[in-house]
Amino acid sequence: MAPREYVRVYLRLRLLGCLILICGFFAEASPLSAASAGSAATPAPADPHTLSPSDASERIDALRTEIAYHDELYFKKSTPVISDAAYDQLKRELVALELAFPAAARDGAVATEVGDDRAGSFATYRHRMRMLSLNKSYTEKELRAFDARLMKQLGRRELDYVVEPKFDGLAISVTFEKGKLIRAVTRGNGAEGDDVTANVRTISALAQALRAANPAAGAENSMPDLVELRGEIYISYSEFERINRERESAGEPPFSNPRNLAAGTLKQLDPAVVAQRKLKIVFYGCGACEPAQARPESQQALLRQLRAWGLPTVESPRVAHGADAMWRAVQAVGRERGKYDFPTDGAVVKLDEVALQNQLGVTLQAPLWAIAYKFSPERVETQLRSITLQIGRTGVLTPVAELAPVKLGGSMIARASLFNADEIMRRDIRVGDFVYVEKAGEIIPVVAAVNRARRGPDAKPYVFPAVCPSCQSALAQSVAEAAWRCPNMNCPTQIKRRVEHFASAGCVGIRGIGPATVDKLVERGLVKNVADLYRLRAEDLLSPGAQAGKSTDRLLTAIEQSKRIELWRFIDGFGIPQVGPVAARALARRFGGLAELARSRQEDFFQDGRTAISGVGEGPARAVLAYFAQTGNQEVIRDLVALGVRPTTSDGL
Ligand SMILES: [Zn+2]
Repeated sequence: MAPREYVRVYLRLRLLGCLILICGFFAEASPLSAASAGSAATPAPADPHTLSPSDASERIDALRTEIAYHDELYFKKSTPVISDAAYDQLKRELVALELAFPAAARDGAVATEVGDDRAGSFATYRHRMRMLSLNKSYTEKELRAFDARLMKQLGRRELDYVVEPKFDGLAISVTFEKGKLIRAVTRGNGAEGDDVTANVRTISALAQALRAANPAAGAENSMPDLVELRGEIYISYSEFERINRERESAGEPPFSNPRNLAAGTLKQLDPAVVAQRKLKIVFYGCGACEPAQARPESQQALLRQLRAWGLPTVESPRVAHGADAMWRAVQAVGRERGKYDFPTDGAVVKLDEVALQNQLGVTLQAPLWAIAYKFSPERVETQLRSITLQIGRTGVLTPVAELAPVKLGGSMIARASLFNADEIMRRDIRVGDFVYVEKAGEIIPVVAAVNRARRGPDAKPYVFPAVCPSCQSALAQSVAEAAWRCPNMNCPTQIKRRVEHFASAGCVGIRGIGPATVDKLVERGLVKNVADLYRLRAEDLLSPGAQAGKSTDRLLTAIEQSKRIELWRFIDGFGIPQVGPVAARALARRFGGLAELARSRQEDFFQDGRTAISGVGEGPARAVLAYFAQTGNQEVIRDLVALGVRPTTSDGL
């Protein structure tokens, strides 16, 4: 295909994909389908027809900020705060708005991106064939519309589908060259991901080489020169429970769900830690294959081939002829999934024949020949007793619902995230209300909806506090984001969270400093910023009357040793808004030292109206400049240098 023709076809397919999303969006926005899909997990999105262009532009910006925030939590930190259903709805709303108001969506649509799971601590590797996500559906109607569209485009009267359970883990691409496992890479941003080969090799069920002989067929297996096999890394429920029991007995907080545990484990830097947690892998797809004719000609044939190669694959795929059978197969997966030992949040419907798949093609983010169906999450009703506020290290206040304890998905729930103040207002959630709580996709609980019928006559609209509960400073809300912040740099709770973040294993990594120690040091006034850690003496670390011992020595040694670690870890550790490990590494490469970074100017980041440092976008660049514009932060850098902190830049990057 000529490049221009390719672009045209691509654009047409992409528009089609968006239209499907929009149809789904409006279908879901109607009360009836919302109830049947259990998708009232999020507030009703704004109807594009009722918005003015300036409102739409504002909402698009807000949605992008929100989505970027949740992407960071979901893909990079593996700690999502909203349900998958709520996240999907944000994305759908954004796609609908970007299409309805192209002028407002001036700098391109973010809703077409697949997210980015790259953690910044691994080498990245480019996929030979782009790694896609799946379009999602929530109702029978949407699934049937998918089938109708395919039949129309392909000119067929009935199509064959393969229906598989949707594994809820971390997508992975494993490359075999002449049958040997050579590389395992996460989806990343779809084009390139983290090279986690060493960690993936610890998975016991994963053969290091494809089986050449096929005992079942009594023949030799075909062996491509190179094949990228696509699948999912997950953790079984039984292993999840085993690990959490161990953690609880060690006095550590349990993991919130298997998906996050699997993702967090795969991104561990030490393969020995990975090997201790029994990750599992399942294969269900194929990326690049050379020579091309070695690729199995149907999804069924691919699954058979994977099994013949000795790889774990989908155990009981269902083959369905036509939409009725396809819908029955999806429902059957829904009924059975309670018995699976692996986490699943839906079913995947794939057109069986590869030749037909190729006729339909793909968008930048998803194939047009497959669709995921997400099951409605389990939901229970309980009373909202109060709303408390958690203060993060950047001063953002997150409201938390304190609930009458209730059993949900096998565990007792007493708290649920409420997202932010605007969400509480928009959904008119009131203290004393009876609310529905969900754990969509087995993740942390969220307040899905309010049971208005049970609202007491005295229930008053929730009023977000005007002052910080920790330091009583007046709260501020920025225009760009829904979150309220405590603007006081010296807010004790913010200091605690900042110091914890700085000392955590992902950043500077001072062993032996946990939240309890940090709380004490901040409360006693010994630590007001991260530089103060380097002023601590043995007597500061002791409870009154106690003797200095090995643990204080160890902690002081750990603090001393941290003076010489990599520069990017310090930069990451400062907790500058929007600056994660990827941007921190880029900044470390560019500036080479703490003092140099602190002296950075506008022109270091922007030239001719463009960002000048690869890996540091406009948002992070402005955040860095704003951060070092504060004299307090300049002083911390000066103190760090004066106290002997000499980060290295010899990490070879
Ligand atoms: Zn405060």
